Amino acid sequence: MSEEGSSYDWAHKAFLQAFLSKSVMTVDEIKPILAAVMSARDPNRPTLEGDVTAPLISSTIQAINERLTSVDYEIRSTKDQTNKHTVYALVNTTSDSLTQLATTFTPDAIAYIKRVLDCMFETNNTRNREVMAVTSIQASQLAKAPTRSRQSQVGGDEDSSIQAEAAVKSLTIAESEKVLADLFDQDFIYKSRANYYSLAPRALMELRTYLKETYNEPAGDDEDEPAIVRIRDCDICREIVTVGVRCSNRECNVRFHDSCATQYFRSQRGNQRTCPKCKGEWLGDLFVGERAANKGQRRTTGGRSSNVRSEEEEEEDEDE
Ligand SMILES: [Zn+2]
Ligand SMILES: [Zn+2]
Repeated sequence: MSEEGSSYDWAHKAFLQAFLSKSVMTVDEIKPILAAVMSARDPNRPTLEGDVTAPLISSTIQAINERLTSVDYEIRSTKDQTNKHTVYALVNTTSDSLTQLATTFTPDAIAYIKRVLDCMFETNNTRNREVMAVTSIQASQLAKAPTRSRQSQVGGDEDSSIQAEAAVKSLTIAESEKVLADLFDQDFIYKSRANYYSLAPRALMELRTYLKETYNEPAGDDEDEPAIVRIRDCDICREIVTVGVRCSNRECNVRFHDSCATQYFRSQRGNQRTCPKCKGEWLGDLFVGERAANKGQRRTTGGRSSNVRSEEEEEEDEDE
């Protein structure tokens, strides 16, 4: 079986076809498809769902990926941060993966998606609150394009900045809702019960490089310019964390997915949980994701009602 799995033939092609029609597949969804494809190739030796093992799946995907590299595509897998299921998706591997959305979305819609991403990973992703999601209200507010484009050319004359402004048009609320609905249908985003939009596994696989290139900044030459890290990987599985837990020491960079944290601390001896990096006590009281938006997550310093304060006030308040 391993021999058959490693040389590319029409069975791989048929399996790849399934990825073109379904944007994301779980192992349970892959099994019957791969079984059917293998059985069709060798009818005398039918492959049952139970015969579809993890090595068969990976050798099949590996053979397909060898063919796909030249066209900048790859089947990747990741674990869903919320339910731990492994999911597979056919992704574009070019760094600016947003460009491929151009086949589905208009330039104004893509500019809107960028505003939503900026809100997720900059506005709603501060030192104190790594929410990494936007509320549906924020998503609606972002339909309106900013009056001054941040993309206007450096040193450009007035004409070019006017052009840049004119280049991005606002969407109507209805149009923005349609974009979000399409992204949801294509498994790019999740919407929570509390009406937060966040990136789904497909987007995290596809935008991995883009997100790091866009929102992380390397350190400057002198000490005054430390690196800015807004997108962090889990210290256990090395995948991006947008839903998880963080070290109780806000200066510390350690982030875990919930399941990775459980796994890690289970293997630690004793009752005292300590951070693997800063060795501080791990209280498990600071979150990444929607839970970070809930005021209950931090020990507030004063008696002020915390639910109406802005992000700036939070920052000031917290800098002790
Ligand atoms: Zn992890
Ligand atoms: Zn730490």
